[in-house]
Amino acid sequence: MSRKKIVIVGGVAGGASCAARCRRLDETAEIVVLDRGPYVSFANCGLPYHVGGVIREESKLLIADAALFRDRFNIEVRTGHEVVAIDRAAHEVELKDLSSGRSYRESYDALVLSPGAAAVRPPLPGIDLPGIFVVRTIPDIRQIRARIDGQAAKSAVVVGGGFIGLEMAENLVHRGLSVTVVEMLNQVMPPLDPEMARPVQEHLEKHGVKVALGDGVAGFESRGAKISVKTKSGAEHAGDIVILAIGVRPETALAKAAGLEIGARGGIRVTDQMRTNDPAIWAVGDAVEVRDAVTGEWTLIPLAGPANRQGRIAADVICGRDARFRGVQGTAVCGVFDLAVASTGASEKNLRRAGITGYEKVYLHPANHVGYYPGAKPINLKLLFRNSDGRILGAQAVGEADVDKRIDVIATAIQFGGTVFDLEEAELCYAPQFGAAKDPVNYAGMIAANLLRGDAPLADWDQVPPDSAMLVDVRDPDEFGGGHLPGAVNFPLNELRARLGELPRDRELWLYCRVGQRGYYATRLLRQHGFRAKNLPGGFLTHQFIEASRT
Ligand code: FAD
Repeated sequence: MSRKKIVIVGGVAGGASCAARCRRLDETAEIVVLDRGPYVSFANCGLPYHVGGVIREESKLLIADAALFRDRFNIEVRTGHEVVAIDRAAHEVELKDLSSGRSYRESYDALVLSPGAAAVRPPLPGIDLPGIFVVRTIPDIRQIRARIDGQAAKSAVVVGGGFIGLEMAENLVHRGLSVTVVEMLNQVMPPLDPEMARPVQEHLEKHGVKVALGDGVAGFESRGAKISVKTKSGAEHAGDIVILAIGVRPETALAKAAGLEIGARGGIRVTDQMRTNDPAIWAVGDAVEVRDAVTGEWTLIPLAGPANRQGRIAADVICGRDARFRGVQGTAVCGVFDLAVASTGASEKNLRRAGITGYEKVYLHPANHVGYYPGAKPINLKLLFRNSDGRILGAQAVGEADVDKRIDVIATAIQFGGTVFDLEEAELCYAPQFGAAKDPVNYAGMIAANLLRGDAPLADWDQVPPDSAMLVDVRDPDEFGGGHLPGAVNFPLNELRARLGELPRDRELWLYCRVGQRGYYATRLLRQHGFRAKNLPGGFLTHQFIEASRT
């Protein structure tokens, strides 16, 4: 039997993992990786941290090079080689050696496209001014570092408040720059719901980052050594350096020109075996559209985990195995100074956008570990689930410690089709410094399960102020005095049993405390006395985040 020849376009996350897996499955195949850049298998995710000096040496970003691929895996890597066309009929790609300018062709039996996604650079006035950078490659950050050092930069404007923008903002602050983040939406961290993104914004501001929301960029102008970022509202933000982090667009030029199917979201359309509509061509990574595991919609999720898994699945299928991609749920985490922001599955905005109704949500603010052990930190957690059967749809969490652990547990539950009843019962690690005998994940499940069983119904913050229900604040009088919902009456939990006669039985009672726990106790107490009580999830703290996100 002749050797199979596998050609892979793009040698970073998806491409490199596909190449290495192909070798592990087929010792005889000829495997060629082509990348137009100077490096393969580099750590894009580490780029912002090299700008900030956290990762000091650039060489640490290089995970593997051509020599390692050759010596360890017998894989031929050609960097500085751009694939400019695919001849599907001849099973050949056309290549350009960027150093010599020579063009030539390379045949393939199986072709894998993992060309990634390009940083968006909208055609705005002044976009090509020196000092405006995107963050995608090692040469990009070399230029950013050179600009910071060469200009002795003191200020920066980061356009885009997503995870790359915020990682860059943090790292520029580490370099001593004063930073402004300009974001078109009314929130930072677009994957989160606005009320969950609010503490992230507050944290950025606490660290001196200026956050300008709800204002798109209109153009750029030179102001001496500085660049002025002009927004649609007429505001101007000047910086010695500008970072553009407004999203990525799948690299589909090659695929389009070759007549491969492109989906409605603009990515290469693939099956669950990462096959394109050409039986000899696979595609993986940021360039492809895949199914959202929760909403079932086609989606683009530019993350390293899915790219690596897809590369592996394409390799399995090319080598004759029946592997299948389960779809993406967008599990992600981002560090923002000492805060971690993580999410998995659908956000409430996404559910609404997809027209999915029949879901419920809970908020909670537990500590990462028991309060009596020093150093406990709160976690703001939101859980979304189907009200018909409790199936988990998504979760978001923000906090200083162990946020990723909770979201990872919930992400795994989502993958297995888990419900809030599974979270309630999940057996998780506990010792005082690590968690609690009732872990935050258990609590999230319990609150949701209590709602679905009818034990502790929840009122909806979106309906506050209510038309007819009475708002009852069950916190202590000093907490009530420090701020409360308009129209609320104060019935501290500890006085409740003695004051039942003062509460009406002909209307609903919507209870709240600081974070939801006393509200829950009060709900159970009142319901057993025949009152129509509901708890407002996550208490006054959640209300404050919701209110702040609306301003
Ligand atoms: P890439 O890794 O982008 O590789 C594509 C390669 O294809 C490139 O080297 C390119 O030069 C090459 N190429 C393209 N076209 C051609 C052509 N025609 N011919 C030859 N070569 C070509 N994800 C996370 O999950 N967590 C994170 O913390 C995280 N942080 C990130 C931080 C930054 C700054 C960036 C930029 C990305 C980050 N990501 C993160 C996203 C993650 O890096 C990507 O999802 C992942 O690298 C995508 O893999 P890929 O193989 O599809 O594309």
